[in-house]
Amino acid sequence: MATIKIYSFGHGRKPGTAWLKTTDTDPGYYIINCPVCRTRGLLPYPCVRSQTVGVLVTKPGTVDDVVFLGPGVWAMSNRAQKAVRDAGLSGIRWVDPVEVVTDERGPTWSGTIRRIQNLELRIAAIGGRGGSIAKANGVKVTRRCEYCGWITWSKRPRSIKIDPEQWDGSDFFCIEEFRERLFTARAAETLASVNLTGFSAEPAGTL
Ligand SMILES: [Zn+2]
Repeated sequence: MATIKIYSFGHGRKPGTAWLKTTDTDPGYYIINCPVCRTRGLLPYPCVRSQTVGVLVTKPGTVDDVVFLGPGVWAMSNRAQKAVRDAGLSGIRWVDPVEVVTDERGPTWSGTIRRIQNLELRIAAIGGRGGSIAKANGVKVTRRCEYCGWITWSKRPRSIKIDPEQWDGSDFFCIEEFRERLFTARAAETLASVNLTGFSAEPAGTL
């Protein structure tokens, strides 16, 4: 089987772009406040479970087609959604934000909300599975708590090798060890072909 290149989302943000976050802290993850290991944080569960996400505007401005909302959580415009649908890409489900709220009131803030509504920004619930990368990439558990289930992994390799046997064939997928969302070259080409603002694909490895 030929090698498939895989990519992750780039994080470039231009001046004047609205800062958006989820109103829930990292939906789809367990929030840990462990009395045993003293961890306060988010259990890095890789795939989206339930995804009731609100969008919080923390700084007004222009809104991109592809927006980073938080670890593993991305929102995309109607143009991105159409490109994914037209190409028949798999592993992604679109979820409406339950609410769009701002830190403050005023015309610039409500203008940003209007742009979000015009873009029909939806949450990209990426649920495809790429399996575990620990074995093929030498990633090891550096800390584990039996009480709360917290796991910390050693650093992600610069180039990830995905085991095709564990991959479910989805164009958009996640891996068990890290929160980042990955996608195939076909998905990267599709999104790049419609010139979406806020989108860039960074090489992440092979499959
Ligand atoms: Zn714990």
